This record gives sequence, C-alpha cells and structure tokens, in this order.
Amino acid sequence: MRTPNRVIILGTAGGRVTTFRLVRRSGGFLVDFDGPKVHVDPGPGAFVYLKEKGIDYREISLIVLSHIHLDHTADVNTLIEACTDGGKRRGLSLVAPKSAVEGMDRVVLPYLMGRLDRVELLEEGRSVEIDGVRIRAIMRHTHHGAETYGLEIGEGVVYLSCARYDRRMLKAYPKNPKLMIINTTFYRKRPGIDHLSVEEVKELIAECRPDLTVLTHFSMEMHQKNPDTVAQELGEELGLNIVAAHDSMEIELK
Ligand SMILES: [Zn+2]
Ligand SMILES: [Zn+2]
Repeated sequence: MRTPNRVIILGTAGGRVTTFRLVRRSGGFLVDFDGPKVHVDPGPGAFVYLKEKGIDYREISLIVLSHIHLDHTADVNTLIEACTDGGKRRGLSLVAPKSAVEGMDRVVLPYLMGRLDRVELLEEGRSVEIDGVRIRAIMRHTHHGAETYGLEIGEGVVYLSCARYDRRMLKAYPKNPKLMIINTTFYRKRPGIDHLSVEEVKELIAECRPDLTVLTHFSMEMHQKNPDTVAQELGEELGLNIVAAHDSMEIELK
C-alpha cells in the first residue's frame, strides 16, 4: 500500500460567489504518492493550475470525484484528455459516484469513457484499490440531492466534501487521521443549506482529532471572516493543529 507524501490544494472557493466570481480559485486538490498522483474534485481551473504547479498531467493515474457539482467537476473532461495524452496513454482510472458517469446528470463525456482503464463506483463503505492506492467511501452525505461521498484517499488522508452535518459522521470518520481536509463553507450554520459550518466542524474534529486539519471551500462569509484567524482560534480552543487552506498551498506529509 502506498502512502501519500504531499498534497497540493489548487483552490479554496466554495459557494456561488467565491467560486464563480473567482474571488478564490477552485480546482480541487492533488495527492502525490511519490509516483502515482491522484486528483480529487477537478473544479474550474484545475487544468491550468496543475500546470502552474509544475505537474505533468501524464503522471496522474487516478481522478476521484466526490459529487457531480460543477465546482468539483468542471475540468474532469479536460483532465481525462490531458492525463491520457489525448487518448494515446493508458493508465488513467476514475473513481466516482454512479451519477457522474451514468444517467441524465452525468458529467463525464460518454466518448471519453473509453480512455479510462478502470471506472469504479463509490458506495458507502466500499474500498477500491488502484495502483496500490486505496480509495474508501467513508459515508454518503446529504448535499442538495447530489450523490456525495466523504473519502479516504490512501492511508490517512481524509476528505470531508460538501455535506449537511450529520452526527453519524462522529462515528463514521476515522480517528487520528494524518490529514483531514474539510469543506468548511460557512462560519455560521445556515438552516436549509447542506454545507458545514465552523461549529459543526469543531464538534467533528474534537472527536476525530486529526494530526492536521485543513479547512477549505470557503463561502464569502468565511472569506470575509479571515479563515486563517478562524483556524487559529479553533486550533487553540481544541489543542489541535488546524490551518486554513490557501490557493496553491502545498502540504508535506511525513
Ligand atoms: Zn462544492
Ligand atoms: Zn456541491
């Protein structure tokens, strides 16, 4: 089993305004396994921002989607083209919810499906192993009707994608992971909107106690609150190592 040695967070936007007025970048994040690279949630700009970080698209062997929303998938087709060198290179796989590859709302273009070596569907509790990298769907989230999963990517990298808070998370999410990336869209809880707030994230990480927590996917409200300050205060309160993601941030993992 391979262990991740580096994560590159391309963008930190979450929600309509920060994403689509380009207040912050999007593009998801790359997990580097010192060899195979896994790209998670290639939202708008991923193609450009990867190049900017010096990543050779042909080194990406797996694309993972947490759900179909455009801020998580806009560049998936471009990346399939880039990572397979226009269909000439084999060795790229996809792990995604069924809704991303089948049915009315599919986001992966049908004519590109043949370029993928393997397509594995996420299901709550299911693990798949590709190239020595294990992807596990920790749980299915409630998120505006979209089939959405929280994920473990390799050993100890946990990604809590967009979700309505659910106390089931306290049990389902692993204890003491190396890194937990959490889409912390709001500062204050917003009833009726299926995104996490700082209060809810606090309850969860007090239970999971990751070695490092990275907050990301910020709405305008979080952006204006200054996520660095929010992360610092939360870290002091819980006695945990918590940081706010920055566009283009690199995290080294030991
Ligand atoms: Zn989102
Ligand atoms: Zn979403």
